[in-house]
Amino acid sequence: MNLLRHDLSALWVSLLAEMNYCEQKAALSVMHPEAEPESEEMKAGAAAHSVLEAEAEKLEREELRRRIAAGAELRLREFPLKAYIDGVPLYGKIDHVEFEGRRALWLYDFKFSRYSHRLFPNHQLQLSLYGLLLAANDYDVSDLICAVVIVPPKPGKSGRLTRTDPKLANLAITSSKELRDGYGGVRRGGRLFHEAGFAVHAFKFQEQGARDEFADALGYWIGLREARVADSAAKCRSCAYNAAGLCTVAIAPPKRKA
Ligand code: SF4
Repeated sequence: MNLLRHDLSALWVSLLAEMNYCEQKAALSVMHPEAEPESEEMKAGAAAHSVLEAEAEKLEREELRRRIAAGAELRLREFPLKAYIDGVPLYGKIDHVEFEGRRALWLYDFKFSRYSHRLFPNHQLQLSLYGLLLAANDYDVSDLICAVVIVPPKPGKSGRLTRTDPKLANLAITSSKELRDGYGGVRRGGRLFHEAGFAVHAFKFQEQGARDEFADALGYWIGLREARVADSAAKCRSCAYNAAGLCTVAIAPPKRKA
């Protein structure tokens, strides 16, 4: 018998982060994955992630263990993690993480989006849950800084988003180091807006806060409560699941029907 709703046998970080936008939408994305087509921004992001992954050298698990045990400095891309948290398997893949032995120091997630002015709650939750996965895998997270790097995609000639420059993500990693304050926190409110066009939003990882957020999200998946609906009519108006007639709790009609 499955413990989780919708016959899921595990949860994954990006799904839980989506709940921050609308829990009902996250649930519908599991039941009807075909209803929301990939946006141009998502395609540009996926292409840029592939380039970032291709830059990395492949490391066998045994070699990784050896380097971590030796206390080596490591910079890892697309780092997969799994842990049982509150008895439920949780998966995640971290875009970029930096270690000194077992000390996790920096955790990055790259977003390719036009909206770079602030740290969005779903992005914050996503990184907090990655931090929780690191903690559950016995990494020392006491000095961990989480950073969301937002790189705007560039419009092509037709006005569609066709290209993102992944080099900016690397420059962002280097530049972000000035945000650590040396006392366990972040400087300048954790924000950096670089002249090259990217933004970095950083915050200190708080394990208890992440545990609380995970437990709250889990409440829906294990059937303790129902999914919360969107907190604004604007979200419902532009929702693909609403347009497809799949959401029975929408607080506004769709702008157009699918
Ligand atoms: S219509 Fe509104 S409540 Fe329903 S899934 Fe979409 S955003 Fe959420």
